[in-house]
Formats: sequence, C-alpha cells, structure tokens
Amino acid sequence: MSTYPFSAVVGMDNMRLALVLNAVSPAIGGLLVRGEKGTAKSTTVRALTAVLPEVAVVPGCRFSCDPAAPDPACPDGPHDASAPVAVRPARLVELPVGASEDRLVGSLDLERALTEGVKAYEPGLLAAAHRGVLYVDEVNLLHDHLVDLLLDAAALGTSYVEREGVSVRHAARFLLVGTMNPEEGELRPQLLDRFGLTVDASAPREPDVRAEVVRRRLAADDDPAAFAARWVDEEQVLAERIARARGRLASVVLPDAALRQITTVCAAFDVDGLRADLVMARTALAHAAWSGRSEVDAEDVRVAARLALPHRRRRNPFDAPGLDEQQLDQALQDAADQGPDEPPDGPGAGAPDGSGQDDSGQDDSAVDEGQSSVDAGAGAGAGAGAGAGVAPPPAPEAPPAPAATPFRARLLTVPGLGTGAAGRRSRARTDSGRVTASRIPAERVTRLHLPATLVAAAPHQLARGRAGRGLVMRGEDLRESVREGREGNLVLFCVDASGSMAARARMSAVKGAVLSLLLDAYQRRDKVGMVTFRGAEAQVALPPTSSVEAAAARLQALPTGGRTPLAAGLLRAADVLRVERMRDPSRRPLLVVVTDGRATGSAGSAPTAPVEQAQRAAALLAAAGVASVVVDCESGAVRLGLAVTLATALGGELLRLDEVAADSLASSVRARTATPSRKVA
Ligand SMILES: [Zn+2]
Repeated sequence: MSTYPFSAVVGMDNMRLALVLNAVSPAIGGLLVRGEKGTAKSTTVRALTAVLPEVAVVPGCRFSCDPAAPDPACPDGPHDASAPVAVRPARLVELPVGASEDRLVGSLDLERALTEGVKAYEPGLLAAAHRGVLYVDEVNLLHDHLVDLLLDAAALGTSYVEREGVSVRHAARFLLVGTMNPEEGELRPQLLDRFGLTVDASAPREPDVRAEVVRRRLAADDDPAAFAARWVDEEQVLAERIARARGRLASVVLPDAALRQITTVCAAFDVDGLRADLVMARTALAHAAWSGRSEVDAEDVRVAARLALPHRRRRNPFDAPGLDEQQLDQALQDAADQGPDEPPDGPGAGAPDGSGQDDSGQDDSAVDEGQSSVDAGAGAGAGAGAGAGVAPPPAPEAPPAPAATPFRARLLTVPGLGTGAAGRRSRARTDSGRVTASRIPAERVTRLHLPATLVAAAPHQLARGRAGRGLVMRGEDLRESVREGREGNLVLFCVDASGSMAARARMSAVKGAVLSLLLDAYQRRDKVGMVTFRGAEAQVALPPTSSVEAAAARLQALPTGGRTPLAAGLLRAADVLRVERMRDPSRRPLLVVVTDGRATGSAGSAPTAPVEQAQRAAALLAAAGVASVVVDCESGAVRLGLAVTLATALGGELLRLDEVAADSLASSVRARTATPSRKVA
C-alpha cells in the first residue's frame, strides 16, 4: 500500500513545516491541525512516517524497545544485551474517537490470570505508537475517558493498566498529532495545552494552486504506485534533511538575545505559565537546525511564535485560537529595542503591560453592562410582561440585547438511567463510575466483580475435585461489575424571541441564563442545539452540535420581536429531536423551553387557538417521552401562570428564570412540578 507522498502535498506549508519540526525535535510535543473538512489534513499526517528516520528495535519486543537502551520494566523483557537489532520504518497509529479503553491502553486477560495463573497482556494502541506517531482524527470528538488516559500517558511517557490488582506498565512516548474541524466543537483546554503546536489548515484560494492539488490527486488515484515512484527522490531528500537536522539539533545554540525575544513575546501575549516559552524555544531550535543554522535567529523565533502561541492565549472556552500578527511584530520589535543593556523595566517592558490593560478594560466594561441589565431586569420587565398580549416590538434598528453575565447553572438532568456516551449530566450505565451490581459477562471480562466470582465458584469445589489450597476457578465463574456513572445528553433549547419577551433588559437576563446553561453543557460534554420562534415561524438557530461556541454566538445575535408562535417552536423542536434520535440513538435529549408561556397567532385567528395548539404540541413531545424543563420568564405584578400549564402538558419540570442559578435561594423549597418523580438535582 502506498500512501500519498509527503513531498507531493500542495498548499499545506504551515502544517508540513510544523510536522517536520516535530520530527526534528519530538520534545516540541506534537501538533493540532484545525480546519474545515476536505483540506488533505489526514492525507498529510499519514504521509509523514515515510520521511521519518527508521527506528531500531529489539526483535520480537511488542513494546518497541530501543536495543541501545531497552526499557528495564518492559513487559516483554528483560532483553538480552547481545540480541540482534532490527530496523523498521517509523509507525503511524490511528486512534479512532470511539475506541474502547482496552483498545487504547491494552487489555489484561483476567480469565487466564485466574484460571491459569498467567499474566496475559495484549498491548493497545499506546504501545504500538511508542517511538512513532499517534494520530487522532476528529480529536475534538474523542471520548472524555480516552482524553484522560491520553493526557496521562503523554505527560508521563508511560502507559499504566490495572485491572483488579493485576497491573502492567510500559513506555509510551509518541508524537501526538490531532486534526479537527472547529465547527464540530472545541477541544478541552487541558488537551489543547498538551499539543506543542497548532496550525490552521484551509484549502488554498489561488486557482493555480488548487489546480495543481487536483492534478496530483487525480494522478495519485489513477495509479498510486506510479505516482509514488515519481516522488521517491524528493521523499529521499526530505528524509535525509530531517535526519541531518535531528543530528544537528543538539549543537544549535540559543543566544540570550533570542531567548529574550521569546520570553518578551510570551509575556506580551499573556500566556499561562512557562510552557509556551519552553515550546517556543524548542521550536525555534528545531527550525534553526532544519534551516541548517547553528544559532537561533529572529526568523526562527517568529516561526516558533506563529506555531506555538495561537492556542495558548485563550481567555475562555468561547475564544477561538488565533494570533494577531501586528501584536507579534510589535513584541518582537520591543524585544529588539530593549537590547541586552537595558534594565528590565526599560521602555520595551511597557508595551506588553499596556496592551494587557487595554484588554482587561474591555472585559470590565462588558461585565458592567451585563450586570446593570440584570439589575434593571426585575423592574423593567414588569411593564412589558403584565400587559395584554403582545408588547410593542422594539425599534427595528435596535441591536440584539446583550447577554447578561453568565453564572453557574444548576444541574438539570434527564430522569431514569441512560446508556449514552460518557459525560457529566444524567445517570447512566457506563464503563467507569461506581459498582452497583454484578452479571455474567457477554464478552471478555475487563471489570471483574471478585466477590460475585468467588461466590459463583464456591459451590462447585467438591465436584471439581479441589485437593489443596485455593479455589478451582473456571471461566464460567467469572462475573463482571455493572457500573453506574454519568452520560452526556443533547440539550435542546427552545427559546421564545417574540415581542412579549423583547423588553431589552429581560431579554438580556434570558440570554444570560441560556448562556449559563450553555457553559454548563460545555463542561458536561453535552451536545447542544437551539430552536427559536418569533413572528410567523420557528427556526433551527443551531442544529445539534458539540460546538457550544457556535450556540453562544447565535444566542448573542438573536433578534427579538413580533408574535409568539409557541406551537411552531415546539413542533420544530420535536422534528429536530426525531432526526437526532436516528443519528445518535443512545444520547438522550433534554428539552429546555425558555418562555413566558404566551402564544399568539396571526391577526385573524381566535385568541384561544394558539394556546390550544401549543398544548397539543406539548402533549406530542410528552408522548414521545422527551424529558423537558420549562424556564418561566414571566415577570411583573400580574402573572398569568401560562408556563405552569405548558410544563404540565409537557410533563416536565418548571423553573423560574431566577432559579436557573445553582445557588438561587428558592431552589430547595419550590416544587411546582407537574410530575413529582421528575428530579432536578
Ligand atoms: Zn521491550
């Protein structure tokens, strides 16, 4: 099988450079590639191994021990020092996002351990990736527990497996490469920080370049072997250059001036800790070695900043990574101006502080604005909410109300016991969590329930002819643990954006509450979606996605005003949930309806008809078994209590807007729910 040649990739210069620098200096710590689908990200990653230096291994060792320095703790060891040496190409191992824990870290055969007394360990992908490349496509969709295992292994350079007291440890150092489409959700900050470098990959814009991409792709698909043969020489040259740079790396010097540039830039970009400085220094050194220089210069520092910093200056989960080139130029200039003889608080040091103040000043004003909107909400909402029917829509040129400052939201859960993907919301049968029962295993046991296993074996000891000490175990005795943990859900918001909700201060409070629930969903690894309704129709403002950023952006820009087609909103939500149930059947939905419960129809219709339609739509959702919460946004002196009626029809929980916060005073005593069994923890 021939992969696409690395040298033949067109228009991915940043990505190829970042991969090459990691190949020269694996200590840089890997690469995350962000970009839309169809940009040859995966093709480029898979092409890398062909130009990586070959790896010397102990023959027969499943853990790729280096003959020059075998792992003393190698499960296949100890290795004979005089053993022959085998050389094989560097390896690329792909980790599928839905892989099991056993697939990643390896599996211990408990049946053989118990019945034969043999420690039988089947190595996983981490072992296979040792001294090579571990590639995760769609790394942003990787299951949480795999992320944790990956982070542990990457931090320690070791993989550790333990099952019921039987444990195995082996070396696992690898170049971690992830690709992702940010439209499908951002990465957990801890995992983001683990990647040394990031690049954005986008399809080239120039028609000539695009034409060359297509030309080569057609040729490669037509006759892969012949195409690969055309690039053999270039691949050889590239491989030799990487090997030479790797050999030169140890002797490359990082002068004080260049180091000061690095630290000045990191300070100017306000990164956390010193990890960014270290990664930048290693990248600059690798770039100098790659360029054939013996000393790091300003160009190496600039390249390193572009690759190492974009993902390290995030302020909250909604900020996309990025780097301001002008700010980079300025910081580099400042470092140059400062010179070696200037005191640390000289003119150069002022600029980073100044830019920092600018940023925080903006943040403060935004917070103030949000805060005052919330404060005003209680009073201003009264007039708009209590009047007859529909409040006058705001002036058409009025910009959307800003969201009030988000707060910690209370935990809303789906009742019952799910089987969905691991997360942090509703109760579910999961691979991790606490043991609640035992059962006869359907497949190989990974989670042994020891007491139940012993109890199963005990009655048969006489019949099995037990002679000495110790139980006689058979495979059929094995019992596995049944565990209960938490799953992620699909949280679908159905938000009333009509005129009755449109009092600016109140909409600001509503947006603040929804934003808080969105942040909560981000932390709990939920999918989110949003349906809004106003005027003549309901629309899907955001199809179900893992991108909470996208949801927050849509929410901020949400316009308000017009009539209140509540029934249309509920029916659209039902549509979205039906489709999503087909796509992701085990992910249970939670519908959050944000409304004051009012429903108005077109000018000519009878006033009661829209309310009845909404009731019917709600009953439909209830019949489909959709768990729901109604967030009652009604405020003011005269209240109609329509949201109570809606919650009853939905068979769902009812929360007042001010009860969405986790620490709201009233949260413990209120029980206006239509179904007493429904719990809001
Ligand atoms: Zn070994």
